[in-house]
Amino acid sequence: MFKRPFFKLIKPRFRYASLKDEVSVTEISLPDKAILLLEKSEVRPSELQGYIGKRIKTGQIINLRETDLVSPVTGVVLKISQYTGYLNVSYYALHIQIEEDEIEAPSEDYIPYSLPGIKNLKLLFGFNPPINHAIVMAVDTDLLVTTNQVCFKNRLDHIKNGISFITQRAKIGNISFVLFPELIKYAEELECKYHILKSIYPNSLPKLIVKDILKKHIPAGKEPEDMGVAFLSSEAVANMGVFYRGEWSFDKFITFIDKDYSITHIKARIGTPIHHILSQLGIEIEQGDRIIFGGPMRGKTIYSLDTPIDYETDAIFIQDSSEIISYSDTHCINCGECIKVCPVNVPVNMLVRLLENGLFEEAAKQYGLLSCIECGLCSYVCIARIPVFQYIMLGKYELSKMGE
Ligand code: SF4
Ligand code: SF4
Repeated sequence: MFKRPFFKLIKPRFRYASLKDEVSVTEISLPDKAILLLEKSEVRPSELQGYIGKRIKTGQIINLRETDLVSPVTGVVLKISQYTGYLNVSYYALHIQIEEDEIEAPSEDYIPYSLPGIKNLKLLFGFNPPINHAIVMAVDTDLLVTTNQVCFKNRLDHIKNGISFITQRAKIGNISFVLFPELIKYAEELECKYHILKSIYPNSLPKLIVKDILKKHIPAGKEPEDMGVAFLSSEAVANMGVFYRGEWSFDKFITFIDKDYSITHIKARIGTPIHHILSQLGIEIEQGDRIIFGGPMRGKTIYSLDTPIDYETDAIFIQDSSEIISYSDTHCINCGECIKVCPVNVPVNMLVRLLENGLFEEAAKQYGLLSCIECGLCSYVCIARIPVFQYIMLGKYELSKMGE
């Protein structure tokens, strides 16, 4: 996806960005209109229609079929439209004309489905098997991204409360943090158990942490939760802390990576469309530039400037058109580079042949599609410029749909 010179900027061996200095966080103002996305599989249109023309408050619960949504803003619901996202997932988009915040405080026994930093908080409650170990990530999972590190450093008080939420409300006693050496002094201040990670990509991906630090093997197709381990971002834990003291927090911390790779840390309300953030930061998108939600290795390209900030949007990366290398429709030339670089020994050259032809089940059975930990390194090294990572993500998504 990226020209190789890009990596010369961050030295070979792909080191994660780490925070050595204090950082300031730029607050993005509320937009005129917010957009909330709801996956079509989780909601019936009739459930949403009733809200058109109605005013909803910040913190108001909107009950839906599979889930519930807590409104992150106050305003009038203008309309519902259709939205197609990454991998062609279909959503309903709720458009809200924003008014000044009027806040409905959370009731004592309510657990929201999502908080900034975590899409599915219910995972901690009643999951089968029960979660007995929470690992809090004070590290980030893509290059150039430092959102979790900023939250860990700047929100220690909230994180302390978040730990109480996890132990008291979710009844999980075993909590440990994962961090780079630069942040040890903050962990000592927290008096928490922690593991130090070498800041070499892709060490911070959860499945590698389970293997390298917990010394457990996760079978193909299983997730850490299936072994009783939940990975939580430090931002999620900070927001659990805010919630635990009876308040809402709907601001998402984001690492904004501009075309020249300069970094700005921002804070924006969930539902803020990307065009509003760009205009606040004075950034113009030219023809051919790419907007990516996430970092350079694992991010997802978005195609509409109306796309809103979601609960797990940790980074926004604007890629200059001159830096983009197009994918090709060349077939694999069996150079073996992807196999050498894969941290979990997936035979990527064989896998890609099946994925290109839509043979997802065969790809899982024969060539370990579900063992992939989604680092994106195979795509980066592919000489034939095959969109390997995109094929893998599509294959996994299609398999999960078949499972449902
Ligand atoms: S993305 Fe590619 S290199 Fe990374 S784990 Fe998956 S198959 Fe291996
Ligand atoms: S790097 Fe690309 S061309 Fe080389 S073996 Fe892997 S998929 Fe084939």
